[in-house]
Amino acid sequence: MPRDYYEVLGVSKGASQDEIKKAFRALARKYHPDANPNNKEAAEEKFKEIGEAYEVLSDENKRRMYDQTGSVDFGSGRQDFRWEDFSHFNDFGDLGDIFKTIFGGGGGGFGDSFFSGFHDSGPDLDMAVQIKVNLEDAYKGSKKSVKYRRNASCDACKGTGAKNQKLTTCKTCNGSGQQRVVQGQGFFRMVSVTTCHACNGKGRIPVEPCSVCKGNGSNPITEDLSISIPKGAVDNLRLRLKGKGQSHNGRTGDLYVILRVEEDRSIRRRNDDIIVDRSVSFPQAALGTDMDIDIFGNSYDLNVPPGTQPGEILRIKGAGMPRLNSKGSGDLLVRVNVEVPKHLNSKQKDLVKQLMEEFEKKKGWFHNN
Ligand SMILES: [Zn+2]
Ligand SMILES: [Zn+2]
Repeated sequence: MPRDYYEVLGVSKGASQDEIKKAFRALARKYHPDANPNNKEAAEEKFKEIGEAYEVLSDENKRRMYDQTGSVDFGSGRQDFRWEDFSHFNDFGDLGDIFKTIFGGGGGGFGDSFFSGFHDSGPDLDMAVQIKVNLEDAYKGSKKSVKYRRNASCDACKGTGAKNQKLTTCKTCNGSGQQRVVQGQGFFRMVSVTTCHACNGKGRIPVEPCSVCKGNGSNPITEDLSISIPKGAVDNLRLRLKGKGQSHNGRTGDLYVILRVEEDRSIRRRNDDIIVDRSVSFPQAALGTDMDIDIFGNSYDLNVPPGTQPGEILRIKGAGMPRLNSKGSGDLLVRVNVEVPKHLNSKQKDLVKQLMEEFEKKKGWFHNN
């Protein structure tokens, strides 16, 4: 249920990054649990909402995706967000760092992937891996390998932890999977129900533990996956691979592959458009010319019209980046640089002089424009 992120932060659809940051800071202070001691849970919930809105609107790619589609898929890793994660930040000086800390950060190298935001405790069985892709990968779509360690469901016992999958009723909880703890005396007795520790809430325990996984129900393995990079992939795109996270107690989480799209030296990307620089000579700019523009192996004909000015941008429609999750492509923008020769031989000098004189007959060079 995507909320209106603009409404959450109380900014207009056209709000600048400054306005968004300001609005976020003000709300973050307002909903700081220290400022809401009697209402900590509601404040935390509100902060989560604000944080999510800010994460999307402060990132141009995510904001654009949100503007276009009304939602941004984060995956479920978000759900274990807790205010405690924020507690060591005393001010909101560097918001970027706060969000990096919570929503993923760096890690050690491993193949062409590396770990980040790796959870293996508690109920969260999801994992996240970041991979770097270049602009060509995002342009053409490609395959990348991801290597990582995880606890996978034990094949020998099908994740039950029991030899020959033979299970018996848990004696601790008599099969209910729950333990009742009674506290207090007399009139004021409080009964709390917790998950049975002996069977982890399943109500059944192995007759004999599985010898392969020692009763754990899972074994550590190195996973080597081939990931399809979608055409038009944007930076920070999350791909979800179901059932490729941690296995624990017969449940298995998902793997989130976070794509980091690297910039290219000569081919720049602006949303779905591609921008390149090309040079023409002064006579070519004056008389017009045709040239081929190569974008990652695709060739496009560019007509440079007569009288093209230095820095002028020529557009080839539909020759840009493929659009993620929709049809078509952005445009190719070619910025034309006009080169002036640094050295001329005597014949060339004479010709340029003649040209100059011809222009001066007509009240000077600039009057021709
Ligand atoms: Zn039990
Ligand atoms: Zn086993």
